[in-house]
Amino acid sequence: NRRVVSGLQPTGALHVGNYFGAVRRCVRLQDQGDDLMLFIADLHAHTTPQDPGKVQENSLELTALLLASGVDPERTVLFAQSAVPRHAELCWLLACLATHARLAHLPQFKEKSANMKEVPIGLLLYPVLQAADVLVYRGTHVPVGADQVQHLQVASQLVRTFHHRFGKLFPTPRPILPDDGSDRVRSLRDPIKKMSKSDSDPKSRILLSDSDEVIKLKIRKAVTDFTPQVTFDPDTRPGVSNLVTLHCLASDKLIEEAVEEADGLTTAQYKRVVGDALCEALAPIRERARQLRARPDLLRDVLRHGAARARVRADVVYADVADRLGLTTI
Ligand code: ATP
Ligand code: MG
Repeated sequence: NRRVVSGLQPTGALHVGNYFGAVRRCVRLQDQGDDLMLFIADLHAHTTPQDPGKVQENSLELTALLLASGVDPERTVLFAQSAVPRHAELCWLLACLATHARLAHLPQFKEKSANMKEVPIGLLLYPVLQAADVLVYRGTHVPVGADQVQHLQVASQLVRTFHHRFGKLFPTPRPILPDDGSDRVRSLRDPIKKMSKSDSDPKSRILLSDSDEVIKLKIRKAVTDFTPQVTFDPDTRPGVSNLVTLHCLASDKLIEEAVEEADGLTTAQYKRVVGDALCEALAPIRERARQLRARPDLLRDVLRHGAARARVRADVVYADVADRLGLTTI
């Protein structure tokens, strides 16, 4: 049986990239019977400056969206990362095995630290904490996006180093990569870049909380090119191809089917098809999330229940780690 581990940061409203690329994939893994540990990555959130009130608010909002998207808190262990201190404890031990050079070399670290005068160590340690998130449950698989592949390689390397020094203890976590483009939803304003929560232009992303009108407007304004036909070629026509990808993700179609459906339509006409497909896919989730948001006590109960289960699992693994490392935990 696979044990899948995945987390989402409570750093802002979720966009469709997060939904198709992370949330929905997790729900599908859950529904196919994988043992899923799914957490609100509130420790990761603090690798960049956060407003504490927002972190709290976003964590409950994220919980509502996850439940609205089909996460079943009985089958899936759903919890906040900070409620299971073993993540941070294992992170410390793994940090002692990681090297500065390796971490400073990672593209995401370079990007995020590029404009900072003072770079927090936590930002550098981000992939080490991710490794701890997985290893503390002896996770076997991690659903990753294109933006996370290198971080998982750090985790495998830490496992090798750990095994070399202290003996075999963990499975090497393997990536689950999607083949439907769901891990590479692009910005609607600059389709060379991925869609991102932290992009300064709100029109670059469609939020799960956006109304039908706003979704359609953002799609209508999406940057394409000067060729009216709809074709799929992400390298030469990233904007139009991103619309095709979104269309496929929203209505569970293959690329060929979507392109065929667009035959004879201009990109402007096709945008209406894509907008409608997105509205249809997202409206039911938005409605369920609205109902759940009104019940913060229920959301907190779900997280409390999940954290209790996660702590039991993490304690078992951590006891083995402590034993290997000669830590006196009594
Ligand atoms: P930030 O800009 O703050 O890094 P983000 O939009 O990249 O925000 P994360 O919280 O870093 O969001 O990522 C959450 C999950 O969503 C991860 O699993 C990541 O792989 C996935 N994800 C992020 N952006 C996209 C995207 N454009 N397309 C598909 N999946 C994405
Ligand atoms: Mg990101």
